[in-house]
Amino acid sequence: MAKEKKKIALSTKIFIALISGALLGVLIHYFMPNGYFRDTVLVGGIFYVIGQGFIRLMQMLVVPLVFCSLVCGSMSIGDTKTLGKVGIKTVIFYLFTTAMAICIALGVASLINPGIGISLESVKAADVTVAEPTSFADTLLNIIPKNPIGSMANGDMLPIIVFALFVGILLAKMGSKASTVSNFFSQFNDLMMEMTMAVMTIAPIGVFCLIAKTFSEIGFSAFLPMLKYMGAVILALAIQCFGSYQALLFVFTRLNPIRFIKKFVPVMMFAFTTATSNATIPMSIDTLNKKMGVSKKISSFTIPLGATVNMDGTSIMQGVAVIFIAQAYGIALTPSDMLTVIATATIASIGTAGVPSVGLVTLSMVLTSVGLPTEGIALIMGIDRILDMMRTAVNITGDAVCTTIVAHQNKMLDRSVFAKD
Ligand code: ASP
Repeated sequence: MAKEKKKIALSTKIFIALISGALLGVLIHYFMPNGYFRDTVLVGGIFYVIGQGFIRLMQMLVVPLVFCSLVCGSMSIGDTKTLGKVGIKTVIFYLFTTAMAICIALGVASLINPGIGISLESVKAADVTVAEPTSFADTLLNIIPKNPIGSMANGDMLPIIVFALFVGILLAKMGSKASTVSNFFSQFNDLMMEMTMAVMTIAPIGVFCLIAKTFSEIGFSAFLPMLKYMGAVILALAIQCFGSYQALLFVFTRLNPIRFIKKFVPVMMFAFTTATSNATIPMSIDTLNKKMGVSKKISSFTIPLGATVNMDGTSIMQGVAVIFIAQAYGIALTPSDMLTVIATATIASIGTAGVPSVGLVTLSMVLTSVGLPTEGIALIMGIDRILDMMRTAVNITGDAVCTTIVAHQNKMLDRSVFAKD
């Protein structure tokens, strides 16, 4: 009883921290005069250090946790056939939900017409320094690590996944001959899960500081000319998150979507606050396991994969941005342009890393594919942070829904855990 009370308290605490941090941030932005105390001590000092400290603690866990739990997961699944089946199903789900997301975005944006009537001068354009996105061929090649330790040091998720799967499969094959190594990985994995729980206890403080800092720096006046664009992105995100995902979840698993969202909300809030899919990997795996009954054998593989390649929220932003920029510049898009957008935004989503703002970088690839000016990114850059937060929450929800479906199909979902409050 007491334990249950404590459990509810953590997600409630994160929620309270989110709301109160946002309010405090807005108050600071509008009512606290600029100066040493506000800028250096409070926002750039206390909020920054505690907030970033918390993100770093979560990031610290990602590589060792993903590596160990994936080794353990693939080792216990053992046969490559099942792993291959899980992998193919997951990738199909990921691609399908991304294409679906872009279609929703294009549909919503075509109805709302966010760029019609916008005067290019009214939007405060930021300086665009768009980095070159990695080509598709290189993205594909980079999956094979030249140096696994180097990949781990850089936090490159796909090569880590490949190497971990390889290690796990061979450990299963070697059996008792390699029992010391197998035991090491499973014990290290337990240690990482303990560490995740320990770090999560300070989540409310971290979330409070992160959100207070973000909101104290956001000027809302930049939002005004962009309200239609923001509204279109938010509407499409909501349809994807609360409509499409939940429909898919129900159709494939018969699980109660409302219960799913209720249980997953703390992870969504964390993704919203940090705008970093990668940092949510440990929390997502933990929540899916303890609250939904999804076996870590599946989630240790599909969640890091999804955090790296499945960015439905990002592709929604890109779909709406394409329409917005085309309309703002008065360029008409043909139906075949739309198809090109669906294809390139799906690829862009694979190439988008799970860290803040990268979706804007890969947007240039989508714009170029249909001949739109990449300078258009400057129009949306100023207000992108808040949308980045929202789309990150959708990105990781998509990964969790697909993971739950694939777990159900492979009999690795414990429904009794999901049924518990
Ligand atoms: N921030 C997003 C994520 O981590 C990526 C992006 O859209 O910029 O999932």
